[in-house]
Amino acid sequence: MTLPVVRDAAQQKVVAQQLPELLELEALIAQHPHTLTAQVEHLLTWQSLPLPLYSLSLGSRDPHAPTVLMTAGMHGVERIGSQVLIAWLQTLLERLCWDVQLQQQIAQIQLVFMPILNPVGMCLNRRCNGNGVDLNRNAPIDAEDEVKLLGGGHRLGGFFPWYRGKKGAAMEAENLALERVIKRQVFGRPMALALDLHSGFGMQDRLWFPHAYRRKPIDNIADYVALKLLWERTYPNHIYIFEPQSMHYLSHGDVWDYFHALFTASSPSPQQHFLSLTLEMGSWAWVKKRPRQLLNFAGLFNPQMKHRHARVLRRHILLLDFMLAAALNSNNWLPEKQQAALLTQTAQSLWFS
Ligand SMILES: [Zn+2]
Repeated sequence: MTLPVVRDAAQQKVVAQQLPELLELEALIAQHPHTLTAQVEHLLTWQSLPLPLYSLSLGSRDPHAPTVLMTAGMHGVERIGSQVLIAWLQTLLERLCWDVQLQQQIAQIQLVFMPILNPVGMCLNRRCNGNGVDLNRNAPIDAEDEVKLLGGGHRLGGFFPWYRGKKGAAMEAENLALERVIKRQVFGRPMALALDLHSGFGMQDRLWFPHAYRRKPIDNIADYVALKLLWERTYPNHIYIFEPQSMHYLSHGDVWDYFHALFTASSPSPQQHFLSLTLEMGSWAWVKKRPRQLLNFAGLFNPQMKHRHARVLRRHILLLDFMLAAALNSNNWLPEKQQAALLTQTAQSLWFS
């Protein structure tokens, strides 16, 4: 679809109030036309306001280049995820204007961004999309064991959060757009890393990897352990807990479970890898410091003091930079067969014993 999406002055005012992150993203697209390739993957509407679902690409166009996909805003109320990603993208674009080393690095890698996955949900400040569906309970995959009542995903209807959508229906348009981007630009690479930004669970920042639908280890768990150890050796004073999501709860319809299954079904060669992480920012820490945030729904998921907000925007720069370097240099850390067997045992004792 062609750019830009045209809005009149009144519509622009509504976007500025309800979804300022979209204006920030569109400003970056306008400022960096030679660096960023922007595409409207789907056009949503909310109160007759056109809301584009953008994908942005930059870096190498070689179909064999390693790839990093970064997504955010899947749950509309967790807008801090979109803000962290857009702030990091802005820094990256600014550095690309003058940093020759970074230019050389980016020339060898493809970066793909979908920073506002659920624009209608963000306008409404709610978790689900415009149809009342929780996009991360919406994939066609069922948990193997019991899930938390409602929170694990349900089919009662969109009046409760965590609604999966109708049984047998296609995924929601936002998820279909994400799937198209993943099939087009992420699968089939020697290394593809995905990072999806969320907030809301616990006091600490966590990096979760699949599965969410079962308690058994994922088939490429050795690669995840290798990535975890690489991160911890490189940044021993880091702030994240790295673990499978099933350590905490199971859920139906997790999109990253689904994309992993799709990847496996595509019969990848042993040289092709796909790893997805969810950054779950521990928003309870912000609430603890400012309990009055309990009184507004968005306060449960977002830092609302200016200094704390700025701190959160800075907090994950190292991790996002690391994702690039890890994807680009995966030959230097992906385990060989023998090592993989050892790492699989490590995973067992860390998380599944
Ligand atoms: Zn979330």
